[in-house]
Amino acid sequence: MDNELWMILLPIILLPVFFAMGWFAARVDMKTVLKQAKSIPAGFYKSLDALVDRNNGRAARELAEVVDQQPQSYDLNLTLGKLYRQRGENDRAINMHQALLESPDTVGDKRERVLFELAQNYQSAGLVDRAEQIFLELQSGDMAREARQHLMSIYQQDRDWEKAIEMAQQLSRNEQTYQFEIAQFYCELAQAALFKSNFDVARYNVAKALEANKKCSRANMILGDIEAKQGNFAAAVEAYGAIEQQNHAYLSMVGEKLYEAYAAQGKQEEGLSRLIGFMQTFPDLDLINVIYEKSLLLKGETEAAQTAVELVRKKPDLNGVYRLLGLKLSDMSPAWKADADMMRSVIGRQLQKSVMYRCRNCHFKSQVFFWHCPACNKWETFTPNKIEV
Ligand SMILES: [Zn+2]
Repeated sequence: MDNELWMILLPIILLPVFFAMGWFAARVDMKTVLKQAKSIPAGFYKSLDALVDRNNGRAARELAEVVDQQPQSYDLNLTLGKLYRQRGENDRAINMHQALLESPDTVGDKRERVLFELAQNYQSAGLVDRAEQIFLELQSGDMAREARQHLMSIYQQDRDWEKAIEMAQQLSRNEQTYQFEIAQFYCELAQAALFKSNFDVARYNVAKALEANKKCSRANMILGDIEAKQGNFAAAVEAYGAIEQQNHAYLSMVGEKLYEAYAAQGKQEEGLSRLIGFMQTFPDLDLINVIYEKSLLLKGETEAAQTAVELVRKKPDLNGVYRLLGLKLSDMSPAWKADADMMRSVIGRQLQKSVMYRCRNCHFKSQVFFWHCPACNKWETFTPNKIEV
């Protein structure tokens, strides 16, 4: 056979060989996959299953057995430590991550990751100084952003507002600026300075708060308080009144102070009309009580009652109806009076139970207003007016 014929026949002869080789390679590959699957310990799947069932205790026990069989596994040790922390077993979490840190293989990114977990364990165990130290060290590496978020949370917890501001500024990016939080941190500083009658510092921090967030109603409230405390009542009226442009819902929180600032200038009537005007424009405001009390002082019982009744009819709610029944009691016949009084006390009890401030983020309810939600740690999430919950 000459060379040319071989050149034609060879590929045809070898075709089944190539086919067999491909088939064999595929089989070997499948075998490897199956072998690897079998090499994953059953405890790993059981732990995963427990996690799906939200049973962290069982998940931790199963995973601990797997770790005993494979003590060198970095990922398993890291995860098991996290599970211990979630269960509140901080000592075990600390020991686990500490041991992992001492392993000669834990270097570079792996070391940063373990340090980040260890710092969270310390934070969770209340050893905040140690946690802070580690988070500070992590600021130059890949975990910098996460570490700064934890540092910001630690500084808020410690009420160290200057450091919280510094951290929030470092975290600020175009897509997430933290201006909202920064304004609140400056407000905390302003509030503390005002409490000590340190007016210049209070004014400086109010200005910084408004620079960070010009819609910050709290900054205007504090500014109004500063002006009133220093006897600048016209400026106080201006500061409180500007909340109407920032976020009118917060006007109920300054209603009485605004009136007092007018009254200090001998302009009681003007102050009262401003409050009535607010409620006519924004019926959701909770100003009915202050309006009634001030009307009673200035105009007497009949006119005060008339104003209050008109406002309640405009937007009837539990608080308004409670006030309305109180106003109407004196005009009622004795036969009606006892029943109306009973209805009023039932409404009064219901008011206590179901009319509250509520966090818009986590729905935490309270009779007291918070700027910083104690349940979810978000700022300015509480409804400025009590609502039926
Ligand atoms: Zn909340």
